[in-house]
Amino acid sequence: MSVEQAVNVLKQEFPSDQLALPGTETYKTSNGSYLSARESDYAPLAIFQPKDTIEVSSFLRIAKENGVRFAIRGAGQQPLEACANIQDGITLDLRRLTGVELKEGVVSVGAGERWGPVYEKVQAAGLGVGGSRSAKGGIGGLSLAGGLSFFSSREGFICDNVINFEVVLASGAVVQANAQEHPDLWKALKGGGNNFGVVTRFDLRTFPQKPFWGGVVFYLASDSNYPGQVQALVDEIRKPDASEETHIMVNVGYSAQFGDQMMGLNQVYYTGADAASVYGGGDGSKASGDAGESAARVPPMLQPFTSVSSQIGQLNSLRMMTLVEGATEHAVMSSEQVRCAYMNCTLRADKDALVAAADIYTKAIEPLKPIDGIVLCLTLQAYPKSLLRRTAELGGNVLGLNNAEEPLVTVLLLTYWKHRKDDEQILAVLQRTLETIEKEAEARGQRVPYTYLNYASKFQDPFSSYGQENKRFLQDVSRKYDSDGLFQSNVPGGFKLF
Ligand SMILES: Cc1cc2nc3c(=O)[nH]c(=O)nc-3n(C[C@H](O)[C@H](O)[C@H](O)COP(=O)(O)OP(=O)(O)OC[C@H]3O[C@@H](n4cnc5c(N)ncnc54)[C@H](O)[C@@H]3O)c2cc1C
Repeated sequence: MSVEQAVNVLKQEFPSDQLALPGTETYKTSNGSYLSARESDYAPLAIFQPKDTIEVSSFLRIAKENGVRFAIRGAGQQPLEACANIQDGITLDLRRLTGVELKEGVVSVGAGERWGPVYEKVQAAGLGVGGSRSAKGGIGGLSLAGGLSFFSSREGFICDNVINFEVVLASGAVVQANAQEHPDLWKALKGGGNNFGVVTRFDLRTFPQKPFWGGVVFYLASDSNYPGQVQALVDEIRKPDASEETHIMVNVGYSAQFGDQMMGLNQVYYTGADAASVYGGGDGSKASGDAGESAARVPPMLQPFTSVSSQIGQLNSLRMMTLVEGATEHAVMSSEQVRCAYMNCTLRADKDALVAAADIYTKAIEPLKPIDGIVLCLTLQAYPKSLLRRTAELGGNVLGLNNAEEPLVTVLLLTYWKHRKDDEQILAVLQRTLETIEKEAEARGQRVPYTYLNYASKFQDPFSSYGQENKRFLQDVSRKYDSDGLFQSNVPGGFKLF
């Protein structure tokens, strides 16, 4: 029993263009196409690309018979090292499982797609769907983890919007998991990651969606303007009548290209059906980056974020936009094949605790600033109550947030850099910083245990953060659908349940 034997079987059973082997150009290109270069450091003994669900099932049979360890790869956009790649095993690369079909308000998406083509399809029909804010984002990593979209305040987590998963189980059987068939598996997949099977198709609900208003506002961050932005975020999501049409991210960070000063970046959206008629200036044309001139056309609840002082007007992009345009803007702003790390924690929406988190971060990253190519960012993303309420309405998930009685804010530390030699220093500083932020929030009584799977780092434990009951449920579902624990022992990447 060995990987070599399994590779030989794959060679016999499948055309050579579906199996990339070390030393070939196809292998080099494929293994080099992850978002994070840290993921490309791993060298599988083969990369197998199935063309359909039956071939995924055949692969699982071969992997099991030969006791092979393997990784499951979607688009390869999650920064966590070795979550979708593997050293000396086989990477099951789903990128040929393509296809986007829209029928009776449900969009069916192959596991190898990215959100861009999905948005093109639904937008042409006057619809929207909850997916990544980046057109380049992958489907599987997000829909199996939770996920925030432009529409989360109104439509819930991305995983809540999956009405059916087509799954290949460890036995090789293909099942549908939805509210009627295998409802326990359906719920477990909504936050349970790669622990239950290989999902080959995602069926997502859609909703009517017109073009919306939003974009980015860059500014020079300082003690005189950043705390006010955090206050505005907290005020907005704590309002008893907080809008379900806003999506707000408040970022502060450092990149050498902007000099030594900390930069602020607000990403703000208003997704209501009235956006074009009220804020679009009639023709949907681009709003001026100048705060004064555009103020009259800014949704009032977003004005604190668009009128921040010390703006760098030429970088602002506030305007009416389609879903495709909004997601393309995020994709253009993202990097490819850089060294990358995400980690996160969750706080109550408390201004002082969140500003304290940013203060800790700003001081802690000082020694990292001289590192070549470093980009450091602390992002606050809101979980308003309307988002948390949607989970139960849409059938439930395992994130453990549905009982939250108040809005929450996830604190994401996002870092890009250039060279492997800097990994250790950067990761050590960031881990210490996150732990200090958590301790400070704990001391203030403002910490919530939840860790978002998609933004989690190796030293974190998202499944325990869902709460004992949810973790036990996930373990029970794993025992039921994968009694030999194939996805626990043979798929080591990502976060495991036992
Ligand atoms: C630029 C950028 C923008 C982002 N925007 C958002 C955003 O708007 N909202 C948000 O919430 N997050 C966002 N993220 C996080 C990001 O979308 C994810 O990390 C997501 O996981 C990527 O999905 P993927 O399919 O490429 O995952 P991969 O990296 O391929 O895999 C991630 C994990 O999911 C598992 N997996 C993937 N597909 C399957 C499958 N079909 N069956 C079983 N297991 C599978 C893999 O085994 C792996 O453990 C963003 C990240 C970046 C870099």
